[in-house]
Amino acid sequence: MSGGRPRLAGTTAVITGGGRGIGRAVAEALVERGAAVLVAARSADEIEATAAALRERGAEAHAVPCDVTDEAAVARLAAAAEERLGAVDILVNNAGAAFAQPLHRLSLQEWTDTLAVNATGPFLCTRAFLPGMVQRGRGRVVAVASVAGLTGAPYVAAYAAAKHAAVGFVRAVAAEVAASGVTVNAVCPGYVDTDMTSASIERIVARTGRTEEEARAAILEHSPQGRLLGADEVAAAVAFLCSEDARGITGEALVLDGGGLRR
Ligand code: NDP
Repeated sequence: MSGGRPRLAGTTAVITGGGRGIGRAVAEALVERGAAVLVAARSADEIEATAAALRERGAEAHAVPCDVTDEAAVARLAAAAEERLGAVDILVNNAGAAFAQPLHRLSLQEWTDTLAVNATGPFLCTRAFLPGMVQRGRGRVVAVASVAGLTGAPYVAAYAAAKHAAVGFVRAVAAEVAASGVTVNAVCPGYVDTDMTSASIERIVARTGRTEEEARAAILEHSPQGRLLGADEVAAAVAFLCSEDARGITGEALVLDGGGLRR
């Protein structure tokens, strides 16, 4: 913010997976720009802690437990959001889970679960919140996808398929509502310094016998910048896409990966 009225003052936002990691950083970034927020995830303690920390900063922040793969739970989330925030201007489909397994060991259940949280969740949430935005002629939907939504890599067939689905969904829905004033976009980060990446490092150590340092180095190889992204960097990109300045951007998949996909 460069002085004056915060860019998102008077807006309302729902952030899925807002209890930790990127989702929590997005909630912080939107609040910093003046939005009132509601964070949703399965772990009630984490979303309550996020909302409480934001309220301590003087923000309006609510927490509603929700499993985004559950149609009825998403309907309850939409009702709770309307009750607490009123009309919802911004939906950030951030809830997700990574999964790595060589294809021959990938079970149907693992495939289905990975698709459910990363692709069906954004579908259910967008379907719940988008009609109100279209009716009001303004709104923002942003999906936190991944570089795995644009390219493949070994052992992540389910995750890559799910994130490609999320990116395809964004492009199709953006086209569907383009004339309404609502934009629909994705951000596609490379590895971000969150619990999810720590778990990936632990998994590499457990499966390959490499040291933690070696496993971390293998992950850093994906970035020409040789570093993990900060959750705050992803959050800043999401906040930009939610701003009035980004009104001409829709159906876009914004890559944040230190140049990895450009090699
Ligand atoms: P975390 O594991 O730290 O956080 C994931 C969040 O999603 C948690 O709040 C979790 O809460 C929530 N979540 C998971 N499953 C569900 C569900 N079924 N219903 C509701 N909420 C759910 O991950 P990150 O912050 O790293 O990741 C956030 C997003 O960014 C994900 O979509 C991920 O795929 C994507 N991403 C991450 C990258 C990384 O390197 N970390 C890189 C590129 C993309 P709970 O478990 O309590 O439900």
